[in-house]
Amino acid sequence: MSQQHQEKGTWRPLVLATTVFLFGIASGLGLHGQRVERTQRRLTLDNEEAARQYAFLAQRQLDAYASTGLSLAAHIGTSNAISDATVNAYVDSARHFERLKGIRAYGYLPRLAPELADEFEHRVQADMPGYHIRGKRPRADFYYPVLYLADPDPARAAIVRGIDFSIFPERLAAIRKALATGAPAATRVHASVHDFAKIPVVLTFTPVRTADRHVDRGVGAGVVFSVMRVAELFEGIDNGKLTRAFALAVHEQDGPARRLVYASDNDAFRQADADPAHVVYATTLRFTDRTWHMRILSKPSGRSADAFGDWPWLTATLLASLIAAFGTYRLALRQRDRRIRSEMAQRFEVLLDSHPFAVYAADRAGNFVFVNRKMQQELGLSQQQLIGASSTLFMAPSSQAVAGAAFRKALHGEALAYHASVHNGHGAEVDLAVVLVPVIVAGQVDRVLGFAENVTERKRFERELHESREMLRLILDTIPDRVFWKDRESRFIGANRHMVDAAGLPSAERIVGLTDADMPWMGAAAHYQDEDREILASGRSLLNMQRPQTTEDGEVRWFDVSKLPLTDDAGTVAGVLGIVRDITQHKRMEEELTRRANHDSLTGLPNRAFFHSQLNHAIVRAQRRRTGMALMYFDIDRFKQINDTHGHDAGDQVIRLFADRVCANLRASDFVARLGGDEFVLIVEDMAEPDVARHLAGKLLASMEEPLAIDGQALRISTSIGIAVFDGTMTASQLIKAADDAMYEAKRGGRNCFRPLAR
Ligand code: GH3
Ligand code: MG
Repeated sequence: MSQQHQEKGTWRPLVLATTVFLFGIASGLGLHGQRVERTQRRLTLDNEEAARQYAFLAQRQLDAYASTGLSLAAHIGTSNAISDATVNAYVDSARHFERLKGIRAYGYLPRLAPELADEFEHRVQADMPGYHIRGKRPRADFYYPVLYLADPDPARAAIVRGIDFSIFPERLAAIRKALATGAPAATRVHASVHDFAKIPVVLTFTPVRTADRHVDRGVGAGVVFSVMRVAELFEGIDNGKLTRAFALAVHEQDGPARRLVYASDNDAFRQADADPAHVVYATTLRFTDRTWHMRILSKPSGRSADAFGDWPWLTATLLASLIAAFGTYRLALRQRDRRIRSEMAQRFEVLLDSHPFAVYAADRAGNFVFVNRKMQQELGLSQQQLIGASSTLFMAPSSQAVAGAAFRKALHGEALAYHASVHNGHGAEVDLAVVLVPVIVAGQVDRVLGFAENVTERKRFERELHESREMLRLILDTIPDRVFWKDRESRFIGANRHMVDAAGLPSAERIVGLTDADMPWMGAAAHYQDEDREILASGRSLLNMQRPQTTEDGEVRWFDVSKLPLTDDAGTVAGVLGIVRDITQHKRMEEELTRRANHDSLTGLPNRAFFHSQLNHAIVRAQRRRTGMALMYFDIDRFKQINDTHGHDAGDQVIRLFADRVCANLRASDFVARLGGDEFVLIVEDMAEPDVARHLAGKLLASMEEPLAIDGQALRISTSIGIAVFDGTMTASQLIKAADDAMYEAKRGGRNCFRPLAR
């Protein structure tokens, strides 16, 4: 990296950090302003809500005045006779009027028709000497000369006694209005007449409706009145909280003139007009027939947000700006490192793009940040489609766990290999052999490089090979022969199940490396290895070698063994294939057949064919050894008669017993055969002299003297024997003819004898 690069890289974070710091301070101050404003707004809203509440309370208070006046008027109206006592009682009963803030006096003003004035004065003078109505006027419609006053101050009551209320024009107007409308009516605000303080008051008159007959004469009825100090009313709202928190200006429109009803301070009214922004809340209050405009103003000293009383915020702003600046500096440094890394990576990627394997790089989150051309081909997706995508997205479900674990290991700095199946963009499954290499930058794994080789074909081939091997194994295990194959050193490489069983091994794997010397047939091992060597040397097979083998329990079994050379691809004999078939059964059947072909079924003795071959052998032996040999023919005498007399079965039995007797008198080396019917033949070998044959014939004749036991009957038989002694040159037929002739001689000679009697 160049010097210039490094300098640029160092300064930029600092410049950025400073900018962030300044920006932080600026925006902190800006936010501070907003905060102040927000606080102010909140305060204003709070103020407005409070003002609204106070206005509501003021209206309630005014409504209470009106309704109290009405209830007092109703009280009085229900009475027929109005006397001082009753009215005073009513007024007393309505003392709760006093509890209302601002009420200074209340009472009842009966009205008096002018024509009844003199009579009334006389009547009152009886109780009250010197009483007269003050201020009588010639055109008055009514006088209001009596005041029933609920006033704690009797002196004040005395002052007003006898004064006709209607002489004050604004009061008369209100009284007339109340009587005319039948509803409470109030005067405008005016200075109290009798108060030296000249406090602004409002008088309320409520008409008393009554059915009393005196009304007709102008006595009774009248109005309930009350005097209210407006300042006390407003200053008493919520125990004075309204006027403490706010400035207040109330006015009423009295004709074209605007009159002040109440102002909390000298400036309030003027200020409300001059600066409407000070008005927190404005409303109209209804009081009897009057409408008051009420404006609630914020006091100059009222609550407001202090723009610079927020030092914790400003300190926090400074601190946050510093932290942000520091963070930016660190971040900018890291980004510089990342840029350098990405430049390096780009160079790396150019190299990897033409790599013969599919190569990819994934970030720490496992998303592709680079895929080479081969990778795009393998997945069948473009670079745009792959970059940013999760590398696990393409994994077959069966490979996800393995791939995930491998990736996590790679993130820990381990390079490793694994196999995975992925689904490419066309939905086909591709088998990959993947090698993961962690790319470590500044001591930390920055990304993971993956080299993936497509092993789909190889895997398929392996699978097919495996399948065909399995099939071969199945076939080999199914055939009943023992099959094995050996290497050039006659060591077993493999064998089928029958062979493994015969070897007494638990599994096919165990036979590998063993030789015939390790097998139960170890005695024949040398011989078998000789055969193997012969095959390996000649390349020719040894087929169908039949050999007996004695098993562990002494049984002799026969095997047909074929051994064939195994050649490799180059045509070299690499080993021996052996096929061993157990032919014991076959062999036994063969022996039985042979035996049956050469033996007589009735007596079990050799038959004529066997005799002929035996005779030839005996001639050869006699000639070779130069030993004496004789042939004897013999036949049961008059056997037909036995058959005829005792039946064919008895005849058979006689033949068997006859044969047994003959055999009982012979040596092991003598050969006796049944030629057919009742005719037998005997070969006597190794005779020391010709008389031996005659001696034997005599013995046979003698053995027949004992009767045979047939079906519980004693049966006598005899035989006639013809002897032919071999002279060393005779052929088999000459010898047979000589013996046969001799036997006929014996028959002719009377039977039960042998011929010739002497040499
Ligand atoms: P000879 O003394 O001259 O020999 O008189 P023989 O009655 O024995 O006459 P021959 O030997 O010619 O007759 C043999 C008879 O044996 C003829 C036949 O009916 C009978 N035979 C042949 N084979 C059998 C056999 O297997 N069983 C039985 N029961 N009889 C047989
Ligand atoms: Mg016979």
